[in-house]
Amino acid sequence: MKGSLDDLQPAFRARVEKMIAHVQSLGDTVTIVWGYRSTAEQTILWNNRASNPNPVARPGFSPHEAGLAVDLHFDGSVSRSAVGHAAIDFGLRWGGGFQHPDPPHFEWPGFIHGQPAAGQKAAEEG
Ligand SMILES: [Zn+2]
Repeated sequence: MKGSLDDLQPAFRARVEKMIAHVQSLGDTVTIVWGYRSTAEQTILWNNRASNPNPVARPGFSPHEAGLAVDLHFDGSVSRSAVGHAAIDFGLRWGGGFQHPDPPHFEWPGFIHGQPAAGQKAAEEG
């Protein structure tokens, strides 16, 4: 959902909440831009991708549709690279490190790109 962590898979959401709390403790304001996204919403983004500054996944293939991604906005003095390190520390994959960088984007590290989002699950390792 826009502006919410609702409907994210619980194991993923727990990590996101810990990372957000950490970045807030460093002094940044964190805004949740978009978490879970329906395929209908992903289709609208896809159809408007030419005007999107960040890469857009094909409908059916976005981790947002699996409840395994969140887009965040950080407002403060914490650098992007520090946020990227925090993501790794809390067990998340950061879009800022992608070949086509997507800095607001954080996802479950086990999500497999290029495979359908439906059915991909966040399971705690071990
Ligand atoms: Zn995203």
